[in-house]
Amino acid sequence: MSDSNPFRYDPQAIEAKWQARWAEAGTNEPDLDRAARPFYNLMMFPYPSAEGLHVGNMFAFTGSDAFGRFKRLQGFDVFEPIGFDAFGIHSENYALKMGVHPAELIPSNIANFRRQLTRIGGMFSWRNVLSTTDPAYYKWTQWLFLQLYKAGKAYRKYGTVNWCPECKTVLANEQVINGFCERHPDTKVEQRALEQWYFRIAEYADRLLADLDDRTKMDWSDTTVTAQRNWLGRSEGAEIDFVLEGDCGAIRVYTTRPDTLYGATFMVLAPEHPLVPQITGEAQRAAVEAYRAQVAKQDLVSRKVGDKEKTGVFTGAHAINPATGQKIPVWVADYVLMDYGTGAIMAVPAHDERDFDFARKFGLAVTRVLAREGEASDAPVAAAETDTDGYVLVNSGPWNGRPAREALGAIIAWLEQEGNGKGVVRYRIYDWCISRQRYWGPPIPMIYCPACGPVPVPEKDLPVLLPPIEDFRPDDSGISPLARHEEWYFVPCPTCGQRARRETDVSDTFLDSAWYYLRYPSTGFDDRAFDAERTRRWCPVTMYIGGNEHAVLHLLYSRFLAMVLHDLGHLAFDEPFRTFRAHGLIVKDGSKMSKSRGNVVIPDEYIARWGADTFRLYLMFLGPFQEGGDFRDSSISGPRRFLDKVWDLVSQCENVTLAGQEVQHSVVVKRHQTVKKVTEAMEALSYNTAIAALMELLNAMRDTNCSERHIVKDLVVMLAPFAPHFSEECWERLGARTTVFSAAWPTWEERLTLEDLMEIPVQVNGKTRGKVRVPRGAEEAAIVTAALHEEAVRRFVDGKELKKQIYVPGRLLNLVVA
Ligand SMILES: [Zn+2]
Ligand SMILES: [Zn+2]
Repeated sequence: MSDSNPFRYDPQAIEAKWQARWAEAGTNEPDLDRAARPFYNLMMFPYPSAEGLHVGNMFAFTGSDAFGRFKRLQGFDVFEPIGFDAFGIHSENYALKMGVHPAELIPSNIANFRRQLTRIGGMFSWRNVLSTTDPAYYKWTQWLFLQLYKAGKAYRKYGTVNWCPECKTVLANEQVINGFCERHPDTKVEQRALEQWYFRIAEYADRLLADLDDRTKMDWSDTTVTAQRNWLGRSEGAEIDFVLEGDCGAIRVYTTRPDTLYGATFMVLAPEHPLVPQITGEAQRAAVEAYRAQVAKQDLVSRKVGDKEKTGVFTGAHAINPATGQKIPVWVADYVLMDYGTGAIMAVPAHDERDFDFARKFGLAVTRVLAREGEASDAPVAAAETDTDGYVLVNSGPWNGRPAREALGAIIAWLEQEGNGKGVVRYRIYDWCISRQRYWGPPIPMIYCPACGPVPVPEKDLPVLLPPIEDFRPDDSGISPLARHEEWYFVPCPTCGQRARRETDVSDTFLDSAWYYLRYPSTGFDDRAFDAERTRRWCPVTMYIGGNEHAVLHLLYSRFLAMVLHDLGHLAFDEPFRTFRAHGLIVKDGSKMSKSRGNVVIPDEYIARWGADTFRLYLMFLGPFQEGGDFRDSSISGPRRFLDKVWDLVSQCENVTLAGQEVQHSVVVKRHQTVKKVTEAMEALSYNTAIAALMELLNAMRDTNCSERHIVKDLVVMLAPFAPHFSEECWERLGARTTVFSAAWPTWEERLTLEDLMEIPVQVNGKTRGKVRVPRGAEEAAIVTAALHEEAVRRFVDGKELKKQIYVPGRLLNLVVA
């Protein structure tokens, strides 16, 4: 039908027309200084790859854009900025692969992204676009580093770091997935000793955790909150000192299970533990040395694998279990790591799997200290029993019979009282390593002077520009490519003027993205990172939508920086994102789109064929936005047919000059129901539900041949978040002179959302006894059945014979009984 419609719409023409108008009129640019109802709608800015945005990116951006447009229709001044996360290893690796300098690649990639983002019809505030590679941006990334340095939140430390031999750089712990590089899932991460810059995020662990429960500060997707909580990894336990036999001091251990202290039958030190040489007996020395040498050759990853064959060696030393007073042997084994806890453990083989395997292998004592209620205290231990719930303590002196959970706290209190230990809260999170031995990032603004030591670059000298060197390829030395350029790194010391040396590492790309939301409202200011007044008006971000793959890294770093900037007096708030929602993923042929699977779909051809509006509508109709959906291009014609039908309806409206068309009550009800449903679905990001409701409303109108202008206008407004160009065009055809986004989102009346019912009074033998509510136009038989189910009526007819019924249509039902 739409094919023969002479007014059938032409998406290419309409979309070009409205994109030009929006740009010309500044439709998408809120007044950043005077907006009365600011709403900061943020989406995670893309890294501008050479391939361009794929369908998965478009899905995320369109879902975020639909929300921004919805809020705008609700009367908010919506600020929806976009930018480019163009520094970092992704860009650099691609440049290396292509043999092109990243500074040459990035501008064309950005231009392509910008073209795609415009073509899809995003409500972007292009006046405030930013790129992290722009010196006008990274000047402030460096400034931020200096603020942290001056506040003692940035420090340099020599230590073991994760090194990816493929990336040829250091990785943050967050970038190591089960011992493998996040970017190179087949490459094992090695440990290297290097000097690195860190931020003190671990100091903020308790605060980062506490805010997760504070709904007044943050309303975030549950999945994201859980991921952050796990990453912070709070555990409660105790540090316990085991005094060594002889005059050798004590071994300190950290355990989350002090309730099992009586079951500690031996101890294990990490081979690197500094006490090992000191406590090793002469008879054992050769064996211990050999074992340590052997372990030194292993990588940490394989040591962390839990179920491998246990190895170890006895040191000859003994320690005293502070609870039992018994002498227990001290062993060395590679399953204990120096970087976790204290590098020493109390082994409780009955209630820890690895200790159990170790005890089995080396014939060490196993003492049960937890038993199920009623179980014998000497019941054999066939495998480690690690649960606490339902267990009571046995073989544990004064605590026998106490539930394990309760004994835990009591034993900590006893240890503290005896001076043998103390309760400790620990976090899994480590400080954030921010230095990278790579080229494509902002140089860390520090200078090392032989006389003054480390000197921060004075703020007036920022930015420290990244020099345009040709040999930017990293090597295995662990030294940044910038360290090959004397002409760049030798500078006079800012303090004493002596020849000094610049820091040659650059900062982690996650630092660029940890504060970009602060820059967007203030891109026009070149004398400050973010303007106080603009920040007060627009921040914290009202709604942030992004992928859950950034649930831990990016969001945690952003939160940490906001806390530091808050404490330093730069920000009034300390949580950057008021609401965060994680979007789902688009899959193709059952798996996530990725280049390695070869199932990446580029949206351009679809947009060229169907138009951006149809494509947007199609993406949002694929499934619940927070869950994602399956990309099947065969179903894209459905949304297009829907738009064609709306187009026809608007055409009918245009042709009707008479006002006050009679609207069937059922359509009025449908309209109110739809407004309610769509509004609620938009708030919940259930876009597929919203679109389905709009389709139903359209069908109800077509079924009753209704083209009432007010309802058509409501339909067009509700469609606008999904199909903005199309809705603009319809809006204009319906006689409007302003953008559809200055229209008001329709409202509904609850009473009109109810089904179209009529009330019929029911008489029994001429006396009114009750009433029934039935759909308007119900058959007489249905009304009688309903009346006989009515409690008030039934009392007078039960057990009697219905002689006759008199129905006055729409008015009255009289039942005659005897
Ligand atoms: Zn790697
Ligand atoms: Zn100096």
